[in-house]
Amino acid sequence: MRRKLVIGNWKMHGSLAANAELLAGLRAAEPFVCDTAVCPPYPYLAACVLALQGSHIALGAQDCSAHEQGAYTGEVSAAMLADLGCRYVIVGHSERRSLHGEGDQLVADKARMVVSKGLTPVVCVGETLAERESAQTEAVVKRQLSAVIHTLGHCVPQMVVAYEPVWAIGTGRTATPEQAQAVHAVLRAQLKAATPHADGMRILYGGSVKPENAASLFSQPDIDGGLIGGASLKAADFVAICRAAL
Ligand code: PEP
Repeated sequence: MRRKLVIGNWKMHGSLAANAELLAGLRAAEPFVCDTAVCPPYPYLAACVLALQGSHIALGAQDCSAHEQGAYTGEVSAAMLADLGCRYVIVGHSERRSLHGEGDQLVADKARMVVSKGLTPVVCVGETLAERESAQTEAVVKRQLSAVIHTLGHCVPQMVVAYEPVWAIGTGRTATPEQAQAVHAVLRAQLKAATPHADGMRILYGGSVKPENAASLFSQPDIDGGLIGGASLKAADFVAICRAAL
């Protein structure tokens, strides 16, 4: 039995005051039946660590460098995120892939760096609308996951996978539970071919998850929670989504 996990990806939103209010709203609703985490922008991580002291809500980052350390201006290392107390690091989000040109192998290298620091990479995969409409969904997500599987080797069970169809992210257009489950089953099968521990691994769905559609998505057999963008910025919505993750 996999415990569900709901992660909020705040993207480039927030302020010290807004974050404090949001976290206070989440803390007031604890405990949750699922595991939960929030991924604020880098500059706010330290303040969020303090705000989450004594809470079961974990902290994550939205990205990290594939490099250990060095002359990489503007980059943040996985070691720094571990130092701060992060537990999760999102890698390969579609906005990183499309807006910053991140390819499959770079995403895989980031995942390996995250694992090497004892953190959990949340590896995002997902197809564009054009790829779905040309029946490429399965090939695309398998290609994206395959790079990570080969790079992580025996550490594959340490990652969380997030299926995020690009056409559903921030668009209000959600994959139906059946569409999402079909892809999650493909990903589970791919993980099973790579590790005997695949049944214990969590595969999250992301893409316009809201309080109204969370329960039906999370009730699918291979959907183990969600990666939540827009709806993670309102405490009441994020709490409702976490409560739907039974
Ligand atoms: C995301 O950015 O990971 C995401 C799923 O966003 P939204 O929930 O807003 O579609």
